[in-house]
This record gives sequence, structure tokens and C-alpha cells, in this order.
Amino acid sequence: MISIQKFVFNPFSENTYVVFNEAKKAVIIDPGMYYEEEEKAIDKFIISNGLKLEAIWHTHSHLDHMFGTGYVSRKYNLDPMIFEKDLDTYQNFERVCAMYGVPIRNMPPEKVQFMDIKNGLSLGETKFSVFFVPGHAPGHVVFHHTQSNVLINGDCLFRESIGRTDLPGGNHIQLISSIKNKLFTLPDNTTVYSGHGPETTIGHEIANNPFINY
Ligand SMILES: [Zn+2]
Repeated sequence: MISIQKFVFNPFSENTYVVFNEAKKAVIIDPGMYYEEEEKAIDKFIISNGLKLEAIWHTHSHLDHMFGTGYVSRKYNLDPMIFEKDLDTYQNFERVCAMYGVPIRNMPPEKVQFMDIKNGLSLGETKFSVFFVPGHAPGHVVFHHTQSNVLINGDCLFRESIGRTDLPGGNHIQLISSIKNKLFTLPDNTTVYSGHGPETTIGHEIANNPFINY
């Protein structure tokens, strides 16, 4: 069994997730803490639940999903993990922040680890499958926990919407294909946790998502 805690952080209202198992091993996915009180909220949650933070995973490396990467990486002594096709996006953080006029409070570390998406990711005994779903970002991945039918899907699919594709490396056709071929083949009752906005299910999106036509 896994537990999922959602936080909404930074001026982009990004969803950061702390996922943990029964052994209290935790991973933070897309750490978006920008302000000091957001950093404190994460630390407080980890301490009050007796969690051991063991990993930092990125669905992708857009700035709003990375504001807290530097903080959490240094505080918990962890290398962030990304899919290698997202390295350019990761390394563009400083430039993109300047473009948006957002001052950087915590620079993400240069050192990252690449995910082995073929074998999936482990959190202690808990295994996640990783799917490569390009379209919103060139190295975008999602994390699927089969036993609990949970998908942490970043900015690929939203409730009755989809990720934007007008950012560098975005590709609309690729995104539609990723959603149809990789996400819509999951069971209907899969709960989808997105990078922005509320949760949804695969079944709800197959029936109601206006961007995916068959
Ligand atoms: Zn994004």
C-alpha cells in the first residue's frame, strides 16, 4: 500500500507529491517549493509522519516542478532523478527562470541520476513502472503503481484537459499519442494525479476529455 500527500506550491499552483509506503520510506515527486514556508511544510510533513525521504523523482523538468529541487536535494542529501531525455530541459532551468522573470532562490544541483525506465523505480519494496510519454516535455515520464492503480502523471493529462505543447520540446501529436497509447490502456479505475489541478481517473478521461478524439 502507498499513501499520497499532495501539496500545491509556487505561483504556478504546481502539485508536489510525497508518496510513502508502510515502511515509511518516502519519495518526493516534482518538488515545487518556492517560498520558505513551502519548504517548511515539506519538512514538517516528513518529520510529523516519521518518514525517511529516500528519493527525488521528476516527471519532467519545467521550472514550476523544480523550484524546490535544490532545497530538498541539499537538505536530504539526494541526487534528483530524471529521465535522460529531459536533461536539456533540466539544464535550462536558470535561463527559463530569467525568461519568466522569476528570481532563483535555490539552484537545482548539477548532478542528477538518470532513471532506468525499463526496470522501473523502487521505493524500498514498493515498485513503480515508468512510462515515457513525450509531448509536453521531451523527457516526460509518469509513474504507475500497479497494485493500487495509481498514476502520478505530471503535466501529460489533466482532468478534462491535457498539457500544453507550446513550450520548447513540446509536440501536440506526440502528446496525444502518449495519452492514447500509454495512459488510456491502463484500467479505467486508475486514479490519475496531475501536476496541476484535481485528480481524475482514466475512465473519466476516456469518456470526457475533449482533447482526445477517436
Ligand atoms: Zn510542465
